[in-house]
Amino acid sequence: MILAVLEQTKGTLPESSLEALTAARELAKISNDQAEVVLIGSQVKSLVSHLKGCAKALLVEDAKLDTYAPEAYAKIVAETIQKRSPRAVVAAGTDLGNDWMSRVAVRLDLGLATGCTEFKFEGANLRVIRFNWGGSLLEEAELRSNPKLITVQPHAIPNKPGEGAEPATETLSVALNEKDFRVQVKQVLASEKKGITLQDAKVVIGGGRGMGAGENFKMLEDLAGLLNGAVGGSRVATNNGWRPHSDQIGQTGQIIAPDLYIACGISGAIQHMVGCKASKKILVINKDSEAPIFQRADYGVVGDALQVIPALIAEVKKAKGL
Ligand SMILES: Cc1cc2nc3c(=O)[nH]c(=O)nc-3n(C[C@H](O)[C@H](O)[C@H](O)COP(=O)(O)OP(=O)(O)OC[C@H]3O[C@@H](n4cnc5c(N)ncnc54)[C@H](O)[C@@H]3O)c2cc1C
Repeated sequence: MILAVLEQTKGTLPESSLEALTAARELAKISNDQAEVVLIGSQVKSLVSHLKGCAKALLVEDAKLDTYAPEAYAKIVAETIQKRSPRAVVAAGTDLGNDWMSRVAVRLDLGLATGCTEFKFEGANLRVIRFNWGGSLLEEAELRSNPKLITVQPHAIPNKPGEGAEPATETLSVALNEKDFRVQVKQVLASEKKGITLQDAKVVIGGGRGMGAGENFKMLEDLAGLLNGAVGGSRVATNNGWRPHSDQIGQTGQIIAPDLYIACGISGAIQHMVGCKASKKILVINKDSEAPIFQRADYGVVGDALQVIPALIAEVKKAKGL
């Protein structure tokens, strides 16, 4: 059996969890096995409809577990592994997924491969390809301990909804004590930003040092408004206070995968490209034709962003009849 442990927030499964679920189903299929899912929190029953094609949903229902408690989560997953003896355990390669899976690996003395993008069983071993160095290096690794613990790199495996019947449910009870809640997330502050997020937007417009000043991001917002997109920035833009840190794209910011990324006044440092290279197409606007980001561009405009963007806005408006 392949076990997926899914992160949920307020009764919804984020895209990264659905991708991990897709990976678990895929692993089950290639190993002619079945998939089971662990869901932790108070509103998890409503999520069972997303788990079509899985054999069983194991529910750990407790309102105390609605916010992340590393030791409690690791204990639940470790005990479930001991009870159910899966061949492999899959979670999303998010900060939380990597955190609890590494704790599980230590508790059970198992190997863990984080950030996997591909996997296949070779006999008793699982061969994986995994992201390293923020994605600039792909590592091939072999997991030999049993069960195999992996986390799935976000955006690497497209979410494919399952087919067939909803799984049977079973309530799991794990004895948790005060010590298991020594560390717990107490509050999650939602971003004040309204509108479409960098993660969900099909078009993302990034601004860098070349935008020159925070007020010049207004033209990026205008363009984003016309294209139903979202605006982000390089670390220079966030360090300068032109954008909030939550808008930073890159190794120490957000990893995005829109249909189109429009990079304006950004040089293309590796730490930035790690965050946007999963974009389907990249349009670069930069006044330096030698800027490294042009090597990654599908389309490029050599010119001053402060002139090119208003011209682009005017053309989009014309095309939309505005
Ligand atoms: C550990 C670590 C983590 C990091 N994490 C991140 C990260 O997550 N995200 C990130 O972005 N960076 C990150 N960085 C920083 C990264 O190395 C670069 O310094 C940063 O991405 C550069 O930002 P930039 O492209 O806006 O600025 P620059 O590199 O200064 O490039 C500005 C570009 O704008 C062009 N330009 C100037 N004026 C105009 C104009 N008027 N019109 C058009 N083009 C113009 C220039 O030709 C140039 O190419 C990290 C660095 C380290 C060491």
